[in-house]
Amino acid sequence: MKTTNVKAFGTNAADAPLNEMKIDRRDVTAKDIEIEILYCGVCHSDLHTARNDWGFTMYPAVPGHEIVGRVTKIGSEVTKLKVGDIAGVGCLVDSCQTCDSCKKDLEQYCLTGWTGTYGGADKHLGGPTLGGYSEKIVVDEHFVLKVPANLDLAAVAPLLCAGITTWSPLRHWNVTKGSKVAVVGLGGLGHMAIKLAKGLGAEVTLFSRTPDKEKDAFELGADAVVISTDENQMQSVSGKFDLIIDTVPYVHDVNPYVATLNISGTLVLVGYLGGLEPILNTVPMILGRKSVAGSLIGGIAETQEMLDFCGEHNIVSEIEIIKMQDINEAYERMIKSDVRYRFVIDMASLK
Ligand code: NAP
Ligand code: ZN
Repeated sequence: MKTTNVKAFGTNAADAPLNEMKIDRRDVTAKDIEIEILYCGVCHSDLHTARNDWGFTMYPAVPGHEIVGRVTKIGSEVTKLKVGDIAGVGCLVDSCQTCDSCKKDLEQYCLTGWTGTYGGADKHLGGPTLGGYSEKIVVDEHFVLKVPANLDLAAVAPLLCAGITTWSPLRHWNVTKGSKVAVVGLGGLGHMAIKLAKGLGAEVTLFSRTPDKEKDAFELGADAVVISTDENQMQSVSGKFDLIIDTVPYVHDVNPYVATLNISGTLVLVGYLGGLEPILNTVPMILGRKSVAGSLIGGIAETQEMLDFCGEHNIVSEIEIIKMQDINEAYERMIKSDVRYRFVIDMASLK
């Protein structure tokens, strides 16, 4: 298969920093769109992947799944976009498109396995798929999104993962005007959860460990902030929430949050992957018909729905633009929760 060599940033080992490297992109096939990447958001999953936190990273790892760019080439059968259009790519670049999940627009739960934008099995070139920390990407048009024209392009990028990952549970659990929603952790996902839940008309509370984020949370639209390390504050919201979206990336005690769910309420984990410690106590769940659930990104149709909603409501991410060369420092700051509230790489810095 014909390929083009492009510049990227990635790593060949869990303990090595990200460095410039050359990678191959396939030439467009009939259904493909080639995109020159303008901006790429920095998700905590990028860091988990580069450092093999989850134990399944395939190297080389080129992270990045919050991609906004300009269409530079299209295949002969492409109808969604034309050369020169602005395009978005999120966490998914392929799925079987025929199984029950795919037929229901739930490509992220594809029964034969979806392909992540990075770290998936590349069906065209073999090896791992390589993500958005690069000059160009080639993606099947089904997995390419249209970007509302009124929004700032750099600040749109984080919608492609942080936005859809919080939008999908808000929609699945039917959040609407007056719903009582709480968000755990004010980072990339957390700040989008606040904005999107507010956009849907919910009453929103932030749980944070970081008291000096309180002012920001109110500016982002939160109606209340609860410092999760303060037992009295936690007690004050006992039995309150219909839905809690927990974005914390590392193992933590979820029992205190279950106590703040209303009867029939749901706590949905989107951050931490793995066994819970301390163990989950079922007593309050059984006595209050409460659920603890999980949710993975969102399907393509739902991602487009979220982008269109953001266009109508003028919702974008709060960003700090960085150069590609600053990515290793950005990861260190992310670990310290020192991001307000999403790093976005200006891909011109890679040229
Ligand atoms: P982020 O920007 O680093 O934000 C995470 C926030 O969680 C921090 O700002 C901090 O908020 C809080 N936090 C961090 N470490 C903590 C700890 N040890 N204990 C308690 N709270 C802690 O990360 P992100 O990009 O939003 O991603 C969050 C998680 O979601 C990551 O694990 C990522 O891999 C995952 N993710 C999942 C999906 C999915 O489909 N399910 C999609 C994208 C990302 P405070 O300072 O306010 O406490
Ligand atoms: Zn992500």
